[in-house]
Amino acid sequence: MNPITGMCLCERVSYEISGELGPIFNCHCSKCRRWHGAAFRTRASIDISQFNIVTGRDNLTEYASSDNVSKYFCKNCGSPLHSTYKDRPNIIGIPLGALEGVGDSVPLANIFTDSKATWYEITDELPRYPSWPGSESKVRETNS
Ligand SMILES: [Zn+2]
Ligand SMILES: [Zn+2]
Repeated sequence: MNPITGMCLCERVSYEISGELGPIFNCHCSKCRRWHGAAFRTRASIDISQFNIVTGRDNLTEYASSDNVSKYFCKNCGSPLHSTYKDRPNIIGIPLGALEGVGDSVPLANIFTDSKATWYEITDELPRYPSWPGSESKVRETNS
C-alpha cells in the first residue's frame, strides 16, 4: 500500500502516513472552527509511528491551544497541520483536507456538535456527540 501523503498550501511542509488512518471525526468545536476558518475540521487519529515529515520541518510552528493540545502549522503559508496531545503522546491528529490517497476512509461521527456553527446544518446520518465522546473506542462501540 502506498503511503498517504499530505502537504501545506505552499508545499514546503510535506509528510507521509504509513498504514491505515485511525478513526475520522468531523470536529465542530470552536477551536477547530477558528483554526480552519471552516464549519468543522475533519480529522483522523494516527499512531505517531505512522507519521513521517518528509520536507519542511523548519517551517513547522507550534501553538499550544490548551494545556493538553499543541497545534502545528506552516509558518510560511499558515496551513493548519497536525495536533499532538500530552495525555496521549502516541497519537497525532491529522486534517484530512491536506491528504492525498486516503482511499475509502470516511468520517465515523460528528463530535462537539453543541459547539457547531449556527449557520451550518449537519445533514449526514453519522452519530452525533455533543462533546468529546470520551474515547475513540467509545465511538466505534456505538457505531457497531
Ligand atoms: Zn506552507
Ligand atoms: Zn475540535
